[in-house]
Amino acid sequence: MADNTHKLPENVPGPWYVDDTCTPCRVCLDEAPQLLKYNDDETYVYFFKQPEGEDELAAAENASAICPQNSIGNDGA
Ligand code: SF4
Repeated sequence: MADNTHKLPENVPGPWYVDDTCTPCRVCLDEAPQLLKYNDDETYVYFFKQPEGEDELAAAENASAICPQNSIGNDGA
């Protein structure tokens, strides 16, 4: 389960986040390229945009479900 006390600092403010366990394997980028991207040296990914609307929320949920590290979480908002 993602740990909200270990959020990566680049995550845009809001409920959804990637924590510091991201490897990065990149599979989430196929699910939610409109929300997630690599940091500059591609050592992890983070939310550059919070999901808005049903489609983006579904993309975030799919990314969270597929993450093998369980690095993607939300604060339930
Ligand atoms: S699926 Fe999980 S471990 Fe893989 S890049 Fe995305 S957040 Fe990181």
